[in-house]
Amino acid sequence: MSDIIHLLPDSVANQIAAGEVIQRPASCLKELVENSLDAGASHIRVIVRDAGRTLLQVVDDGKGMSPTDARMAFERHATSKISQASDLFQLRTMGFRGEALASICAVAHVEVQTRRVEDEVGTRIEIAGSEVLSQEIVQCPVGTNMRVKNLFYNVPARRKFLKTNQTELRNLITEYQRIVLVNPQVQFTFVSDDEIIYDLTPSTLKQRIEAVFGHSTKPFTSHLVDIATETELVRISGFIGKPETTGKNSQQYMFVNGRYMRHPYFHKALMTAYSGMLLPDHTPSYFLYFDIQPDAIDVNIHPTKTEIKFADEQAIFQILLAAIRESLGKFNVAPSLDFTTESQLDFPHRSVATSTIAAPHIQVDPTYNPFKSQTARQTVSGWEQLYQQPIPTQPKTIEQLFEEPKITEHTPLLQLDNRYILALTANGIMMIHQHRAHTCVLYKVLREQLGNHQATTQPLLFPEIVELTQDDLSTLEQLLPELSSVGFGVEQFSPAAYSITAVPALLGQKNAADAILQVIHKVQDTEHSAKEQWQEMIALSLAEQMAIPQGKALTEIEMRDLVERLQQTSLRYLPNGKAISTLLSHDEIQKRF
Ligand code: ADP
Ligand code: MG
Repeated sequence: MSDIIHLLPDSVANQIAAGEVIQRPASCLKELVENSLDAGASHIRVIVRDAGRTLLQVVDDGKGMSPTDARMAFERHATSKISQASDLFQLRTMGFRGEALASICAVAHVEVQTRRVEDEVGTRIEIAGSEVLSQEIVQCPVGTNMRVKNLFYNVPARRKFLKTNQTELRNLITEYQRIVLVNPQVQFTFVSDDEIIYDLTPSTLKQRIEAVFGHSTKPFTSHLVDIATETELVRISGFIGKPETTGKNSQQYMFVNGRYMRHPYFHKALMTAYSGMLLPDHTPSYFLYFDIQPDAIDVNIHPTKTEIKFADEQAIFQILLAAIRESLGKFNVAPSLDFTTESQLDFPHRSVATSTIAAPHIQVDPTYNPFKSQTARQTVSGWEQLYQQPIPTQPKTIEQLFEEPKITEHTPLLQLDNRYILALTANGIMMIHQHRAHTCVLYKVLREQLGNHQATTQPLLFPEIVELTQDDLSTLEQLLPELSSVGFGVEQFSPAAYSITAVPALLGQKNAADAILQVIHKVQDTEHSAKEQWQEMIALSLAEQMAIPQGKALTEIEMRDLVERLQQTSLRYLPNGKAISTLLSHDEIQKRF
């Protein structure tokens, strides 16, 4: 028998890799703009047509490429940014994998013009489906002009998975905002179908935030107060929203070393600092910029992932918590101050007074190794003092803060307004949001079921037919395995409809078709289509639908059961960041008298 294993041709391998890196126009935009930033551009123009489907062009005035480099740039693993593994720990560029251009040119028509300042003439290359169609000399300005046309022209399945132009444009803008909010010194222009969406001039960070989120009639940054702290481990700067202004327009952003990140644990630090100050369901705005030694974070970040691992998360959690408390404390002690003018916002910072993160001045201790197994307290010097400074609202130790009040079978429980369970604990009154508590318990159960397929299912006597749009159909097809693991029986009924033959037992009498549609739309609303995130969204969406509502009277036995199961999850926040429970401490009660 002859051998059957062979290496895939590059064009095929690149197309497969492209599926990972380039999921939609927004991921393509991110890669191209990051390349322009890495090339030191001071003005970056983005031009899109049909939300990037037919054209996605990025023009920069960066350092450009030589003719050979321009050709090399489209090879897989071709990068100028690292050359050995150890460079990964000193990373200061956005890119380093050398995958993006190879991926893009595997699934689109790409045309690049580029020139370095030292060259008289530039280079123009045309590539489609990883194949170089032409390379020639051209007259062009210094910098790089990348035109990506007909994205996914040769991958119909991907094309089909794209959402409406409106949704894809929103995805483009979301991705774009994450970049412009961290590079205020760079000029950015964004044009979509000949309409100027953004024209952002170089500015301070605060002006940039205003330019992105403010309206002429409704200033945005007047609601923000500064935060700034610097320790040997990390420097954190930026702005946080005043507690009473956490309405619909609130925005949450975290960045590390110039890169956008999502960090539920740090988000929790923030919510902890605000606890007791916010209206229910409200999240404050924040723009937090972390600067840290590159070797103290996990650099091997997947291009489509926004979660970032820190070596010393717990210590940073405490530093962040203290810094936010301090800013809020300043705010609290002087509630009558008018914060709307720039000068009053300029609190004297203990360490760094800055509103941009352009040039980080981190004191580097060359012998310092954050991965060494030291305790958080030893690793970080400085933050203890910081914490011990008198913070008006918080005379507690960190240990006390994180001690969960124990609720035992003897703890008195009361239901307030048919909405909240109040537990009279030794540390104060624990207030529990009943719907979220139940959502949390069910969420945990569903997450487990998604992992091991052990749901109890309940066949429907009369199958329900659900009609779907093209968008919804393609999402549903991708979700079928997950839906079956949590107990749904779903079968294709006609080209545009599915029939639901069974539902998870936990769903009870709820409408099955509605439940599935809600899941589909929740998944569509998530920015990336990574499996883990789907699972999170599916579990959360179903749990929310199955959970007892606010307004339902509970018996004492029901309350005890819920509280006990909630304690087993040891969660205080839902994956969407919403608080499940909050403690009204003895101190806080005392203060009211
Ligand atoms: P990476 O950014 O991970 O190195 P890419 O595939 O995105 O990989 O780019 C490959 C290489 O092409 C980069 O390392 C860089 O040298 C060059 N390059 C890409 N875009 C630009 C640009 N806009 N200006 C100058 N050089 C660029
Ligand atoms: Mg890159």
